[in-house]
Amino acid sequence: MLDICTVPCRVGYMDNLSYILVDRDTGISAVVDPSETAPIIAKCAEMNLKPDYIFNTHHHFDHTDGNLELKKLYGSRIIACQADAERIPGFDLGVVPGKTFSLGNSVADIIDVSAHTQNHILWYFKADKALFTGDTLFNLCIGGLFEGSVEQMFDALSKIKALPDDVLFYPGHEYTLQAVPMAEHFVRDDAALKQYVQNARAQIARGFPVSPVPLGLEKKCNPYLLPDSPEQFARLF
Ligand code: FE
Ligand code: ZN
Repeated sequence: MLDICTVPCRVGYMDNLSYILVDRDTGISAVVDPSETAPIIAKCAEMNLKPDYIFNTHHHFDHTDGNLELKKLYGSRIIACQADAERIPGFDLGVVPGKTFSLGNSVADIIDVSAHTQNHILWYFKADKALFTGDTLFNLCIGGLFEGSVEQMFDALSKIKALPDDVLFYPGHEYTLQAVPMAEHFVRDDAALKQYVQNARAQIARGFPVSPVPLGLEKKCNPYLLPDSPEQFARLF
């Protein structure tokens, strides 16, 4: 069993979301995408833990800027896609898409979603129904194509669409409200989207991120998850 704590970072300018994961059986812990250190250090102190690992989804600075400081402070080992070893600050150990990584007794499948960047990975804790999507999938939108093609992004999102509807996803940024107008333009399931947006506004008004949302709902409301062919998908760009 995995406990997940969301830590908003760079609030108000990049609106990153980092996460602290704790494997309940063993107490072994990790930080996903430490974009800045102060809020993470404060939360770790509150939880009285020293993260054993840092997991990165991709190399961008707003996901890795905290790597070195946390490693120095806690001795955390930095884990990222093996193929991106040279671009990850403080890289210690590589994971390989198609293989798994164990955080204590919680096991993550590593899924390649090269598109936003090459060697962007998803951390998918299948038994815990938790998916960390970095800058590939956001609420109602997706990350930009910095290093990959539209076709690669379609393939990446197809892998996410193939996962069960009851999996909760945890994105790398809180960008929901900016994405609403485009979703309203493209999405046909009005009732589902209205409910989604209402819930999103309520969460944000209370100072919480919108995530996690179940993939089943996201598949109905995110315009980038609707197309079934690369041709349809390409029309969104
Ligand atoms: Fe990014
Ligand atoms: Zn980012």
